[in-house]
Amino acid sequence: MRVFFSTPFRLLREEAPLTNAVVIFILTTLFYFLGAMMRLVEQLSLFWPLNAVMAGVFARYAFLQRWHYYLISYAAMLIYDAVTTNWGIDSLLINFSNMVFIITMAQFIGAKRHQMLEAPEPTSVLMLFGYCLLAALLCGFFGAIGSVGINGQGFWPLLAEWFGEQFSTGVLILPGVLTMSWPHKPLQLSLQRSIPIVAVVVSVIASVVIGGAGSLAFPLPTLIWCAVRYSLPFTSLITLLTGAAEIILVSSRVIDISIASPMGMSHMFSARLGIATMAICPVIVSVSVETVNSLMRQVSLRANFDFLTGVYSRSGLYEVLNQNDKRFADKHVSVMLLDIDYFKSVNDSYGHECGDQVLASFARQIQMVLGERGVVARMGGEEFVVMATTLDSLEGVQLAETLRLSVANHPFQWRQQTLYLTFSIGISSGKTNTWNLTERFNALLETADENLYRSKKQGRNRTTHSEVAVKPSATSLPDN
Ligand code: GH3
Ligand code: MG
Ligand code: MG
Repeated sequence: MRVFFSTPFRLLREEAPLTNAVVIFILTTLFYFLGAMMRLVEQLSLFWPLNAVMAGVFARYAFLQRWHYYLISYAAMLIYDAVTTNWGIDSLLINFSNMVFIITMAQFIGAKRHQMLEAPEPTSVLMLFGYCLLAALLCGFFGAIGSVGINGQGFWPLLAEWFGEQFSTGVLILPGVLTMSWPHKPLQLSLQRSIPIVAVVVSVIASVVIGGAGSLAFPLPTLIWCAVRYSLPFTSLITLLTGAAEIILVSSRVIDISIASPMGMSHMFSARLGIATMAICPVIVSVSVETVNSLMRQVSLRANFDFLTGVYSRSGLYEVLNQNDKRFADKHVSVMLLDIDYFKSVNDSYGHECGDQVLASFARQIQMVLGERGVVARMGGEEFVVMATTLDSLEGVQLAETLRLSVANHPFQWRQQTLYLTFSIGISSGKTNTWNLTERFNALLETADENLYRSKKQGRNRTTHSEVAVKPSATSLPDN
């Protein structure tokens, strides 16, 4: 998981409550000061970053979600007010509303910690959006009550103002705070890599030039381009800066959303462009999701099949079993463990490359003889598993013997030489059920493993079943 202050600069630690308290106090005071300074500049007075930043800090560090830490943050706000302006019921109520946002967000995000912080997925962002909506409403409610007396405005306009400010600041700032980390390597911004950022700047300029409500959507595709190209924390930062810039530009009427644009274009023109820009975004997201999915398919294909032999890998076999494959569920099955005899001597006599070729041919031979009756998996080294549906244990043993003899009689070619191989089998059969195929397989495999050991001990090149003892016959296939 990414950490806010990665080592060696990690300030917040569970075992250091005093340091935590001091850091919370300083952070709250710092962002309170920053917010107060921003209030002095008209365009920046639209932002109150304290709540979103503190909510992010409390959310990231689960051990901070304690009443005493929240109280320290609240106390820092009250002290700041008392020192710089005045201290009274208004200050208590307004800062309480700040705390409502902070606590609501931290608790919501903390409750879905895994999904929100450790393994975020697209729905996590939607959830964050919803949490911001709710926290901003709650915060707005108390903030509006606290501000009614102050500047003569009514409750509803105040609620709208508080809500709008908290919601937009939360949505803009929180993704950044939740994903922020120190860059592990220096930023490499070549001209080619910075094209998406240039595109964002161009799209904001286009919003200014074209104007109208639709122009607000212009940076969307370029931001998605950034999302595809850059890391999540960096994208969050660019989104924050773009969103903040748009809010400032609209409030200072540089982007005019109410009257005709500077170039005299109609409202419809801006609206059409805006709608088209928004419509392309889901397509871009969908294409990136498609790309990720196809990569996932490739990765799982690699994990599920053994690279050398092309048969299932151990994890691929368990994948088949976990899906309660219909071929094997509620059937009589035979699980066979196959181990090539004296395989080390193949490597020693003919080389590792020959050993690899022989392993691949061996797996092909087993797969070919087995056909549709079951699956083959390489468990590691020169050990394979065959799982097949059989009528009873006798049929399982007969199948094992068919496999064993087909390999024993198969000439393996290596360069100008011909090799013959034998292998030993441990087999175990039984009925499966529909709900825990994997457990049933594991139990059968355990017995098969014990039987394989017996086959090896009794001289190799043979099949051992718990109930049915099979004498080796090296030259002829058994009668089926
Ligand atoms: P046993 O009859 O007792 O099974 O004798 P063995 O020589 O087959 O058994 P052992 O487990 O002692 O040796 C297995 C050998 O298989 C050791 C290793 O060099 C070889 N091996 C394992 N994986 C590979 C592989 O991917 N390629 C090659 N060429 N050899 C492998
Ligand atoms: Mg072996
Ligand atoms: Mg072995």
